[in-house]
Amino acid sequence: TNKERTWNLDNSYARLPELFYRKVKPVSVRSPEVVIFNEELAQTLGLDPSHLKSQAGIEVLAGNHVPEGGEPIAQAYAGHQFGHFTMLGDGRAVLLGEQVTPSNERYDIQLKGSGRTPFSRGGDGRAALGPMIREYLISEAMYHLGVPTTRSLSVATTGDTVIREDMLSGAVLTRVAASHLRFGTFEYAARWGEAEDVRTLADYAIDRHYAELKEKENRYLSLLEKVADQQASLIAKWQCIGFIHGVMNTDNMTISGETIDYGPCAFMDEYDPATVFSSIDKQGRYAYQNQPAIGQWNLARFAETLLPLIHEDQDQAIETAKEVLSKYADFYHQYWLEGMRRKLGLQQEQEQDKDLIVRLLELMKEHKADFTNTFRALTLGQPEDTAMHHTEEFKAWYKTWQERVEKENRTSSDVYETMRTSNPSVIPRNHRVEEALEAAVEEGDYSVFKQLMTVLSDPYAYSSEQEEYTQLPKPSNIPYVTYCGT
Ligand code: AMP
Ligand code: MG
Ligand code: MG
Repeated sequence: TNKERTWNLDNSYARLPELFYRKVKPVSVRSPEVVIFNEELAQTLGLDPSHLKSQAGIEVLAGNHVPEGGEPIAQAYAGHQFGHFTMLGDGRAVLLGEQVTPSNERYDIQLKGSGRTPFSRGGDGRAALGPMIREYLISEAMYHLGVPTTRSLSVATTGDTVIREDMLSGAVLTRVAASHLRFGTFEYAARWGEAEDVRTLADYAIDRHYAELKEKENRYLSLLEKVADQQASLIAKWQCIGFIHGVMNTDNMTISGETIDYGPCAFMDEYDPATVFSSIDKQGRYAYQNQPAIGQWNLARFAETLLPLIHEDQDQAIETAKEVLSKYADFYHQYWLEGMRRKLGLQQEQEQDKDLIVRLLELMKEHKADFTNTFRALTLGQPEDTAMHHTEEFKAWYKTWQERVEKENRTSSDVYETMRTSNPSVIPRNHRVEEALEAAVEEGDYSVFKQLMTVLSDPYAYSSEQEEYTQLPKPSNIPYVTYCGT
């Protein structure tokens, strides 16, 4: 029917106590234009692409018009930023409502860069075009890589100027998420609400994401375990593709287990576990190698908010919460091992597999091997294309690996399929992302972006068109740097 093709918004979050949000309208912009649009996602959401791209549709995507049924709000949350607790909230985003799709799924529809809110503090509530295109590109690439993530429906330019170090074009990104519930939403409720508010929020989260937990004896403890499991799975996926989130503050960790906040993230080229890209992460707190442990630290902050719900006796609550938290390390290790095994074409479990994986990573580090291309070369049976192919150590490793693969008794085409579907041929390489942003922002030429996005939409294809996108950047002495909040 016609109804299924347009906005079908509900507002369950806005029915929570008012503590959790402020009503706020997106700020009107001067001359909205949709410059990037996600047809496939629109279809999934039950939205008619041609309507969304019409003038009336554009007014919605840029924040000039609130669609029927939407009750726009800014969500309140707190969080630990680089270890320090602080009040935050949507400072430059407005939740329009929750789109209920034809298949009865519910997705938050949020405009990012839509102007000031009561949580803006000193900020202007705006976003610049470059970073919004970057979020669109990398979040969609993550989706196609098979990593749980918020998605991007569109980027609209506003015609307004955003003042940073330079004068920049303003833009609004439409972000789509299973929800925007963050660890920080719980921290906010625990700090500024009553015990009942945390319970209300936890029940809401269970209802929305983990309805199967309702029957559990201690559903709040089960929620903690479930979220720990989801985070372990998510971060293992990041590690397996060389993704560095860059700002793993507790306000950027979702209860749903989706990757969120694409400010300073980037993929590494040469393998170095200490890699950091973010300009503000001077201590390397969120370096590649620290991501799994930071996951546990963040979960501990989440667990603290649930303690009053877990047990009346707080000593008891702490003890049981600790037990659940301690499972995270095992969950993570299992997911990581499984993911890395698959990258080497292995399906069965053998005692020595971890050593085999670790040894390869050591060699990659020592020889500054490209993370993605090393696994790509192994997938293609071209070890001569790896940075360390000439060394005796690698030849020995390769022989051990071949013997290990033999033991699985699978056909070589089966093994190849396991590897092909676990080792992306293309990732959003930093130099390619920059090239696409530059053409779009400086020249208004979106063809470079479109081509890159097309290639990234099928990262395991190993097609010939992808080959040029596997090339490394030219050697440079200037390290790649990323920024938050631009
Ligand atoms: P992030 O580092 O991206 O997680 O952002 C931290 C907080 O800063 C969030 O509450 C954002 O809403 C807020 N923020 C980022 N940029 C702006 C801006 N230009 N205006 C207002 N608030 C902002
Ligand atoms: Mg954030
Ligand atoms: Mg951000």
